[in-house]
Amino acid sequence: MRDDYLIKFMTRDGALRGTAALVTGTLRELARRHDLSPTPAVALGRALAGCACLAGLLKDDQVIALKFEGNGPLRRIMVEGEHGGALRGAVGDPHAEPPPVAGRLDVAAALGTDGTLTVTKDLGLKTPYTGTVALDTAEIGEDLAWYLADSEQIPSAVSVGVGVDATGITAAGGFILQAMPPVDEALIDEVMGHLRVIPPLSGLLAAGETPEMLAARILADHPYEILEIRPLFFSCTCDRDRIERVLLSLGVDGLRRLAAGNEPTEVICEFCRERYAFTPGELAVLVAQGEPPLE
Ligand SMILES: [Zn+2]
Repeated sequence: MRDDYLIKFMTRDGALRGTAALVTGTLRELARRHDLSPTPAVALGRALAGCACLAGLLKDDQVIALKFEGNGPLRRIMVEGEHGGALRGAVGDPHAEPPPVAGRLDVAAALGTDGTLTVTKDLGLKTPYTGTVALDTAEIGEDLAWYLADSEQIPSAVSVGVGVDATGITAAGGFILQAMPPVDEALIDEVMGHLRVIPPLSGLLAAGETPEMLAARILADHPYEILEIRPLFFSCTCDRDRIERVLLSLGVDGLRRLAAGNEPTEVICEFCRERYAFTPGELAVLVAQGEPPLE
């Protein structure tokens, strides 16, 4: 299997820029860690592909997080992407599986169309940037395009796709294309024409289409350059120190009760399902650290 990666491209005239990503391996890793059923896997994969493409437009050390929240059984999709290529994600209910519609997995029914998409960007400034929009179709790609148009005011085309069959996830990826100001309407019309005839992404990627081939399809004979190629991979930011800080943030009183028991306390990271166990003795040490110092 090919490793996951992202390309960033721009037309020579600077009118259009975009990213295209392959995230099959990362999604398989998440599906294994979270024990995802097919529909949650497709939903998370679409969000992951969109997140990877948006992270590719950031600058060094910047991080983007997408949170889709809906009134369906999946409840939420959370994904995070770093400009350096690290990706992670989780869903509310990994087994939410509404009945398929005409043989297709129903992502919109799983997430629920009544809800919001919240985008948080840590750009290294004091306060992270946050934007929220109502969900559009809850099919993920359209919601991201709507967010970019409404909240960031950048006309954007977003396409994300995940292929699944009886063997599991066959492919996952996507692209984002943005029109830079001053917007060239004629060029957008031309490119929209190319976008309309692109077959479903899930099938293309499963057949071996690369991000480079996607860029060539989108921009056709419009001159463009590939500015960057970078690997994408699963990576979580959790470690024992971070989990200890989370425990301390819950309050010393609760920790003291757990420390007084006989059973170890287990904390599971939401993004990677890594388990961290704390014995009552270790919790007692944490309680001591969390106590205000004696005067
Ligand atoms: Zn983790």
